[in-house]
Amino acid sequence: FEIVSAPIFDERNIIKGVVLVLYDISDLKQLEVMRKDFVANVSHELKTPITSIRGFSETLLDDDLKDKEIARQFLGIINEESRRLQSLIQDLLTLSKLENEDSKLELTLVNTRKLIDDVIPVLKQQADQKGIQLIIDNDSEIDFLADLNGIKQVMINLVANAINYTPKDGRVTLNVKEEQDFIHLCVKDTGIGIPKEELPRIFERFYRVDKARSRNTGGTGLGLAIVKHIVELHKGMIEVESELNTGTTFHLYFPK
Ligand code: ADP
Repeated sequence: FEIVSAPIFDERNIIKGVVLVLYDISDLKQLEVMRKDFVANVSHELKTPITSIRGFSETLLDDDLKDKEIARQFLGIINEESRRLQSLIQDLLTLSKLENEDSKLELTLVNTRKLIDDVIPVLKQQADQKGIQLIIDNDSEIDFLADLNGIKQVMINLVANAINYTPKDGRVTLNVKEEQDFIHLCVKDTGIGIPKEELPRIFERFYRVDKARSRNTGGTGLGLAIVKHIVELHKGMIEVESELNTGTTFHLYFPK
């Protein structure tokens, strides 16, 4: 609470009381804590790849580069870490655009079959490399009002996660259904699953169940925060169900 006080005087100018106003500032305080956490997280996430790029490039500069094999290995790490920085910055820009008060959706009629046809090629290679089958479970074709780029980003993030967190030779299934007032899209995988107690937190920025695993697969920890934002801008809903070592399903509901 923040307290503001003021004395009350009587007609002879003698203090006869005090008014105390208590302001509940817990929401403000919480926002402030979240903002500080976010800045600390971003700084940490940027620092890790930069430290590694600097370390390996300095070693290369000091070295006489006789051992071509080692030089190649170090350059590989530098390349990988700069890619990580690039995706992190890209995701941060996307989030900041979405959080901008005037961010608006460009609504057009989106066809679900076209949407899936656009999304699959982006991730096909990644799936093939792990021997993961990308399956389209039903071919119902529905038109609904949405922001095409936003919805594509949602699907790409969910399918990319499904591939990342599914061991090789697994399956990722996409499904589209028309319900009474909603278009229901599903992304289902046969992956590692998410522990029940972690489920409520996975949409938070930078929250990862397993930091090392997320990093190894190129994750920024921002994918689901972006997904949730876009879904909410559409006045839609996202739900997740998961079983450890069996798989995870994300359900998206968009108003018709
Ligand atoms: P990341 O870049 O780490 O994948 P996300 O915001 O996309 O970040 O996801 C947050 C975390 O949720 C991930 O680090 C992972 O632990 C968990 N997660 C997301 N999708 C899946 C999935 N399909 N299967 C298992 N875990 C998942």
